[in-house]
Amino acid sequence: MGDRGVVIVGAGECGARAAFALREEGYAGCITLIGAERHMPYERPPLSKDGMSADAPGIKTIAEASRYESAAIRLMLSAEVVSIERAEKSLVLGDGTTIPYEMLLLATGARPRLLPLAEKSRHCLYLRTHDDAGLIATRLKPGSRVIIVGGGFIGLELAAAARGRGCEVTVLEAMPRLLSRAVPEEIATVLAEAHRGNGVDILFGASLTAIEDNDSGVEVRLGDGSTLQADLCVIGIGAIPNTDLADRAGLAVENGICVDETLRTEDPAIFAAGDCCSFPLSIYAGRRVRLEAWRNAQEQGTLAAGNMLGRHAAHISVPWFWSDQYDLTLQIAGLADEGKTIIRREMGDGAFILFHLADDGRLVAASGIGQGNAVARDIRLAEMLIARRAVPVVDKLADAGIKLKSLLAA
Ligand code: FAD
Repeated sequence: MGDRGVVIVGAGECGARAAFALREEGYAGCITLIGAERHMPYERPPLSKDGMSADAPGIKTIAEASRYESAAIRLMLSAEVVSIERAEKSLVLGDGTTIPYEMLLLATGARPRLLPLAEKSRHCLYLRTHDDAGLIATRLKPGSRVIIVGGGFIGLELAAAARGRGCEVTVLEAMPRLLSRAVPEEIATVLAEAHRGNGVDILFGASLTAIEDNDSGVEVRLGDGSTLQADLCVIGIGAIPNTDLADRAGLAVENGICVDETLRTEDPAIFAAGDCCSFPLSIYAGRRVRLEAWRNAQEQGTLAAGNMLGRHAAHISVPWFWSDQYDLTLQIAGLADEGKTIIRREMGDGAFILFHLADDGRLVAASGIGQGNAVARDIRLAEMLIARRAVPVVDKLADAGIKLKSLLAA
């Protein structure tokens, strides 16, 4: 590789991991990590969980400043890349500075999907960054009325955290149940019961017709003519990948920056990884997916680093995601959106796992819920079965008396 070095755009989970992985892989050239946020790269998952337990959320950095220094990683914060000049192999920053690159990694993540109705409201907030979390956390006072628009993972974690701070919480969900695209109904039901049991009001099938600030906060009007008054409204209706840079540079974008299984774009000098990219997953017949998941961002950062150095390794990991709400932890391995499900119960304290089988009997996903780590080990084993493309005997999957480890050995 030439002496222009590797430049990484996006100093989040994926970008920071990639920078360290380059050094761990023995790369001795320049590494520049550019991030639009003002903070050192930090973990996002705590923002909707422990981070909300105090007025001023702490920040869990991925590494101390000294680690970047000793790895000779040039960290440029509060710096936004505004264009990629592919012919010159350089980047332009918002202040006009030009940065040359030999290899480029786009790890630009995602941003919240905006709700047009909420555009003018000062009381409607979104949660993606540490600064967003700070704005929300200071407003979670005991007795405050909080409306959460969207019963997705972030909204639900925030609902649990807001209850923990003594707020009155209402979740507005457009669909007839929670997390309709992400988890099976059985799990959604457990979560809905947990929220209701903890005093959260959930309105299903809620369509919003207007959002307006008034003297006592914000008023949300629903399709059935009813209105709700709140002090704070947090919108959690999903995220969209940050693909604008790639798009303007003429790279293919299809629900994320398009990369091949080695995370390379159609430009051999440009890779993309983490929440911003869509990639083919070989264990699902090459289906193109985009994941918004912490472990995926880490793994892809590491993989992209090696591949920028010429390793040509394919991304073959089984997707994995977790969410914490109250004392419950939900874990999902694989893509849980196809096939029939087999349930394994009697795992203690109400914990259970649903196994998802494709038409040919292959295990394609497992989703489980329970207190603390109740399902962690079995989800890990299921992940290994999925990676092996196992076709397990249905009765054995359903029987909690049969250890999943024995299926793995078979
Ligand atoms: P990001 O972390 O979004 O980082 C991208 C960075 O790039 C950002 O800092 C952005 O400012 C910067 N950037 C973008 N464009 C530019 C530009 N042009 N110039 C310079 N910088 C730029 N996942 C789980 O598996 N489990 C969880 O429980 C969980 N909880 C979560 C809770 C919250 C509140 C959030 C927001 C996410 C959660 N996630 C969770 C998802 C996980 O955090 C993400 O998948 C992960 O952060 C993605 O990492 P990334 O580096 O791809 O993107």
